[in-house]
Amino acid sequence: MDLIIRRGRLNGKAGLWDIGVERGLIAEVAQKIEAKAPTEIDAAERLMAPTYVNGHVHLDKCNLGDVMRPNKTNSFQECLEITWEHKRTYTVEDIVTRASRAIEEGILNGTTVFRVFADVDTIGGLRPLEGIIALREKWRGIVEIEAVDFPQEAIVRDPGTFELMEEGMRMGADVVGGLPWHEHLDEDARRHIDLCFDLARKYDKDVHMLVDDTDNPNSRSLEYLAVKTMREGFQGRVSASHCGALASYDEVHANKVMALVKQAGVSISTNPHISLVAQGRYDQEPIRRGITRVKQMWRMGVNLFSSQDDVNDPYYPFGRNDQQEVASYVCHSCHMTYPDEIAAVFGFITDNAAKAMRLEGYGLEVGCKADLNVLAAPTIQHVLRLQQPPAWVIKGGKVLATNEVRREIRV
Ligand SMILES: [Zn+2]
Repeated sequence: MDLIIRRGRLNGKAGLWDIGVERGLIAEVAQKIEAKAPTEIDAAERLMAPTYVNGHVHLDKCNLGDVMRPNKTNSFQECLEITWEHKRTYTVEDIVTRASRAIEEGILNGTTVFRVFADVDTIGGLRPLEGIIALREKWRGIVEIEAVDFPQEAIVRDPGTFELMEEGMRMGADVVGGLPWHEHLDEDARRHIDLCFDLARKYDKDVHMLVDDTDNPNSRSLEYLAVKTMREGFQGRVSASHCGALASYDEVHANKVMALVKQAGVSISTNPHISLVAQGRYDQEPIRRGITRVKQMWRMGVNLFSSQDDVNDPYYPFGRNDQQEVASYVCHSCHMTYPDEIAAVFGFITDNAAKAMRLEGYGLEVGCKADLNVLAAPTIQHVLRLQQPPAWVIKGGKVLATNEVRREIRV
C-alpha cells in the first residue's frame, strides 16, 4: 500500500473504516487494514467521500469582479456589457491567471473535476477557449478540466459563431456547449440545438447546454433537447443547466417535459444560488426564484447535479468554487432538508455529477481512482451544516491539499 486512511466513516455504512491506496487506485476498504503504508492519515471518525465534481463553471470570466468597472445601472444588461468590454481584450495569460485562482480555491474546497465553459462568439472569437484549453494543459495531471465550446451570445443571432464553434472543436474542446433559449425565435432555438448536435456527432463529444434560464413559461427548448437527444441516440450524454422555465410551466406541460427528460437520460444541473440572483427580476412580489423543479425530478429518478456556475464575475459577486456551499443552497432553496433529501443533494455534487460527466472510476469502491476527501465532519448533514473545508483532499492517491480550521473561544 502507498497510502492508508484510517478510522474514517463511510456514508451508509456503520462503524469506522480504513481505505488503502495502491498505484493511485483504491486497493482495499476494510474495518481494519493490517498492512502498513509510508503515508498514513488518521481520519479521526470523520466522513470520507469521493472528491467533489463541479460540472458547470465559467472560468474565462471568473474574478473579473476584481478588475471590472462598477455596474452603474444595477442591471443584467450592464453585466453583459461589462463582460463584452473585457472579452474583447482577454489574453490567454490573463484567463489562465484568473482561472487558476479559482481552480486553487476549488481544490482547497475538495473539488478535483471541473467542466469549464468558455465563451465562443464573434466578440472574443476563440480567445476564451484558447485560455481554457491552456488552463486544462497547465493543470493536467493535477486535476481534471474539461473545456466546453460554449456559444454565450447564441448561434443563429450571432452569425459566424457556428464556424468558430467548429474551429473550437478542432482545437480540442471536450464538450459541445449550447444556449438555445437565448435565440430570438423558437425555430432558431431548435436550429441552435440541431447545430450543436451536428458538432457533437461529427466530433463524437457530449453536449452540455444552458437551457430555458428564464422565468418565461414560453421558453421551451428543454423538450426539444430531450427529443433530439433520443433521436440522435445520445441518451446519457447530454446535460442541461438551469431549466428555470420548467418551474413556470403549468403542471400538465411540466410533467410531459420531465417525463421526456427522464426518458432521454438528460442530466439536469440546478445552480440555485445563481438562479436566485438572476431570475425573478421582473416580479414585484411574490418574486419567483427561477429554480427548476428539483424535488419533482429527483423523485422521478432524473439525474440531477449542481454546480458553481459563476465565481466573482460581472453576474455574480460571490462564489468561492465551493461545492459544499452550492449543495447548501440547493438544500435551502429546493426544500431538501430531510435526511434522505440531504443525502440526495450530496449526490448532486458527487455521484450524480460524475454520472453526468461520464467519469470513469469514480467512487470509493475497490478499483476506483483514489480521489477522495476526508471531510471536516462525521456525516453529510454536519458537513453541509458546518461548511468547513475538507481536512484532506486526496487525488490519485496523493495528498493534494489540506485544511486546518483554527477556532478558539477565549473566556
Ligand atoms: Zn453558466
